[in-house]
Amino acid sequence: MLTCKEQVARSSDFIDGQLSFRERLMMHHHLLFCPNCRRFMRQMRLLQATLRELPEPPVPGLDELAARLAAEQKNTIK
Ligand SMILES: [Zn+2]
Repeated sequence: MLTCKEQVARSSDFIDGQLSFRERLMMHHHLLFCPNCRRFMRQMRLLQATLRELPEPPVPGLDELAARLAAEQKNTIK
């Protein structure tokens, strides 16, 4: 099973559909058992959906917010 760190590292690719079928399965499997990562993925999806809706250039600060979310998630896991 993936660790939370591996899960977080792959999260953007997962949302963007860049992962192989096998990797996606592994992510889904991890999410089934890990409420932390489920919450994180929900936040990432919301954030990415928001970014996509925005006209260019994106609102300043959203990139930072995404980076902070990822950093916070890394701090909450071992
Ligand atoms: Zn996890």
